[in-house]
Amino acid sequence: MALHKLFDRNVAWAQRKTCEDPTFFLRMAEQQSPKYLWIGCSDSRVTANDVLGLDPGEVFVQRNIANIVHTSDMNLLAVLEYAIEILKVEHVIVCGHYGCGGVQRALGRERSALVDHWLQPIVMLYRKHRAVFDAIEDMDARANRVCELNIEMQIRRVASIPIVENAWARGQSLHLHGWIYGIHDGLLRDVGPTLASIEERDALISIDERVHRHDEPVSGVRGHAIDAFGETTETE
Ligand code: ZN
Repeated sequence: MALHKLFDRNVAWAQRKTCEDPTFFLRMAEQQSPKYLWIGCSDSRVTANDVLGLDPGEVFVQRNIANIVHTSDMNLLAVLEYAIEILKVEHVIVCGHYGCGGVQRALGRERSALVDHWLQPIVMLYRKHRAVFDAIEDMDARANRVCELNIEMQIRRVASIPIVENAWARGQSLHLHGWIYGIHDGLLRDVGPTLASIEERDALISIDERVHRHDEPVSGVRGHAIDAFGETTETE
């Protein structure tokens, strides 16, 4: 697509938006007050607003390859601090996705680019528990299991960042969530853990123990189905 087409699309989008809601951009220009911070993968198929069905202004976003939380990443720390201390978001969502190319690369042998430094936490997790992962014969299923555990690992990292600890210590309402997105069906699933306090974080089992247990992540569709049969009320 020629780039001028993108400008054409932009004009059409802005007109459509104004048509549907004449004061939309006036409200946007005043301020943003998102309730959610999304830490996701840079993959072009996993865009936070589309996946969540939210308008501009409703979700603050940080994306990188394989949704990794490096606790020395200035970009992520600045986003996290601004989201929690200024915007006062109530939910931080780390969202990975099945079929993640970054995770697949971490499981392979090629190590020749800067991205391999970035992916090192996943490589280390895989190497440490190689026997568990390699017992999953289907390569896609194996990578997808690492995708799930990577999210759980990153939630534990977010929960240990002082910005988050300080928010909890002063009683600010802040929930952390680990979700995974299915590119094949468009559905989000809750991988966990969901954390809302230092006590909940400290009560978590370690990621090394977690590797040995597998709970099937629950999608909204499955959550509703379970609710309909009255078997559980735990899904939110
Ligand atoms: Zn990805």
